[in-house]
Amino acid sequence: MNKPTDKKDPNAKTVATDISMPFMYSESLEKVQEIAVNALERIEVLGLRPVPEMYELWYRYFQGDVEIVRAIEAFHGKIDEIACHQIYRRYMNEAVRDEAVKKISDQMQSAIAELASMVSTAKSATTEYGENLSDVSQQIGSASSLEDLGAIVSAIVADTRKMVEKNQELEVQLGNSSQQVTELRNNLDTVKKEAMTDGLTGLLNRKAFDQQMLDCVSESEKTETPMVLMLLDIDFFKKFNDTYGHQVGDQVLRLVARTLTDNVKGRDFAARYGGEEFAIILPDTPVSAGLRVAEILRKSVESKEVINKASNENMGRITLSIGVAEYTPGEPIADLIERADKALYDAKRAGRNRVIEAASAPREE
Ligand code: GH3
Ligand code: MG
Ligand code: MG
Repeated sequence: MNKPTDKKDPNAKTVATDISMPFMYSESLEKVQEIAVNALERIEVLGLRPVPEMYELWYRYFQGDVEIVRAIEAFHGKIDEIACHQIYRRYMNEAVRDEAVKKISDQMQSAIAELASMVSTAKSATTEYGENLSDVSQQIGSASSLEDLGAIVSAIVADTRKMVEKNQELEVQLGNSSQQVTELRNNLDTVKKEAMTDGLTGLLNRKAFDQQMLDCVSESEKTETPMVLMLLDIDFFKKFNDTYGHQVGDQVLRLVARTLTDNVKGRDFAARYGGEEFAIILPDTPVSAGLRVAEILRKSVESKEVINKASNENMGRITLSIGVAEYTPGEPIADLIERADKALYDAKRAGRNRVIEAASAPREE
């Protein structure tokens, strides 16, 4: 029986759990091991060097990363090290972006250090000036002639002028530095955003989705609010692509992405989960509301006619199949995804262009 207090570890079956950990995948341990074995075998069969990047590339391939699969399959099995390198550079630029993030944050750090040293210079200059002034007041007390006083006054004037000059210089430097820091921070924001965004559709990418899932599930646990995961897949998209070509296919992907973002607002997250598959996370939402949103999305996509702008050709309508699952407290993330995926598959089998609610999570013994 299921005791409500006896919660399963929500991430028991996932490989890694914490956002601060770079090993964050939603696949189960068994799946990850299977992918790893396949990747290493393929590297060996093809006589490639098993360097980390090579492994990463083939890992993604067996994980089913659509862009990588497509790029590799274009070689029809005759892929060499140079081709792998090119594909890696072209599609796996996350690492490159991570490097960019690091570079910018290093620059920010040194700019901040510079600012800090300017501030402390300013402080010591002010202190020195203050000390000079108190010296001067003593000297005034013991001055015996007008000449002496004249010299003291000249010294004060000179010190004060120096101080003013120094302050102006510091002000300019401070201004430059803080402008530099602002620029760096903007760059950093852009790079970070890019690293989380799918290039084709502008939606969150898979990496960002994995992070959001972790965030939202732990939020749902903490606040004891329901949460919905929706997986959406375009129906017969292969046929559409084969008939009209990849570029038109890409346009359709953008159209669907836009429809999704237009219809989910606020704290909801829409991501491109794979090639023509999307995922939406609805925090603080019960499954009844999730099903309503799914239905709105389904109808909205179905209602649009796809027109080729160049030729004015009407390419008909496209439809979505959708699986909707509500998170069960204590459920591993991989299980939630699997349930939503199963519902999506059921929607396909039942004739496509429909929304199906996932079965509840199996009860614990
Ligand atoms: P189903 O209704 O069962 O989902 O059929 P389907 O044809 O949509 O499914 P399948 O998974 O067999 O095919 C998905 C196709 O989506 C394969 C590929 O042609 C296309 N696709 C995947 N990613 C992209 C992409 O980034 N751009 C374009 N243009 N097409 C893509
Ligand atoms: Mg499809
Ligand atoms: Mg698909």
